[in-house]
Amino acid sequence: MNILVINCGSSSLKFQLINAQSEELIAKGLCERIGIEGSQMTYAPKDGDKLQITEPMADHTAAIRLVLNALTDEKSGVVKSLDEIGAVGHRIVHGGENFATSTLITDEVLAAIEACNDLAPLHNPANLIGINACRELMPETPMVAVFDTAFHQTMPEEAYLYGIPYHYYEDYKVRRYGFHGTSHSYVSQQAAKMLGKPYEELKIIVCHLGNGASVSAVKNGKCVDTSMGLTPLEGLIMGTRSGDMDPAIIEFLCNKENKSVHEILNVLNKESGVLGLSEGYSSDFRDLEKGYRAGEAPSIRAMKTFAYRVVKYIGAYAAAMNGVDAICFTAGIGENGPFIRGMICSYLEYLGIAINETENAKRGEETVISTPESRTKVLVIPTNEELAIARETFELVK
Ligand code: ADP
Repeated sequence: MNILVINCGSSSLKFQLINAQSEELIAKGLCERIGIEGSQMTYAPKDGDKLQITEPMADHTAAIRLVLNALTDEKSGVVKSLDEIGAVGHRIVHGGENFATSTLITDEVLAAIEACNDLAPLHNPANLIGINACRELMPETPMVAVFDTAFHQTMPEEAYLYGIPYHYYEDYKVRRYGFHGTSHSYVSQQAAKMLGKPYEELKIIVCHLGNGASVSAVKNGKCVDTSMGLTPLEGLIMGTRSGDMDPAIIEFLCNKENKSVHEILNVLNKESGVLGLSEGYSSDFRDLEKGYRAGEAPSIRAMKTFAYRVVKYIGAYAAAMNGVDAICFTAGIGENGPFIRGMICSYLEYLGIAINETENAKRGEETVISTPESRTKVLVIPTNEELAIARETFELVK
């Protein structure tokens, strides 16, 4: 069965068509600037040339119509008709406490997703638009919602509660939810396979280090803690997000800069992280690494502070699980950044970690970067959220 995986943003839409049995990627692409002038689609069939299609896309329905046309096109298509797409898997950012697993989409499920909109006002409405557009164009095809938050729903109360009046949790569901759950789940399961040990018997820390970054603690196959919170702003220092900080800073900066809370939150989301620490130099670790090697203070400061925060979370989660068997690096920086991995691991001697420099020099490959003697194993595992969504979708519709 072929599964269409859709990841819908406010003005973009990423898609992949995956054969669920062979797990082969059949085609993938991206629609950008939906509803904005200059919309375009990139489409890459597995055995053909990549195409750039510039065509107006007034809304997400128009974008999905273009995607379906491309997939079934006589020349560049990969399937004969839409009948060859057995199901659609949608990535949904926030499932709140309503969804601890992926679920078949019904009218009730749509309403429950909509009820989470104020927890993720930028993402969930866009995700819903994507679902509705697909339902309109493929009314008979089963659809599945796969939530970024679901994997973290196993966290115990002591991990997800904030130290604020309890009624804020009861009244407004203010708690830690966590994100990147599909990635944390996929990578931790893959780690167990690589180690040849039962998933249910391992203590794993996953460091998902991309533009958005989070750490999770997975004990005996269940997530027990994660660094992102009510929103993705909490936790690690990220590309442009601040991560953890004293909440009193917000009022302090509002007063000093004569800005509103909304404006300061915008700074914390978009102008902070390694971009802010490097004085606006870059949020991209390729640039920062160059700057670091050239001895430039802003890059050195940004990378050291980023690495230190990851190190603190690893320590916290090793404590929370009373030990750790494996630490995994994934996502853009985790998969491709030997330098930052080395910086982080240099703090972890106390976990009995020793790094094999030859393995750690690799980029974008699944590999064990710790030495055979290393007490705690360190793995690099390329994440594949689309494949994970296709697997979840297939499980529910087969
Ligand atoms: P997201 O999905 O959150 O947008 P990704 O997981 O794609 O982010 O990660 C993007 C980041 O990965 C880039 O900003 C860059 O910092 C980092 N990255 C990509 N390639 C490399 C590389 N070769 N070396 C170091 N960092 C890299």
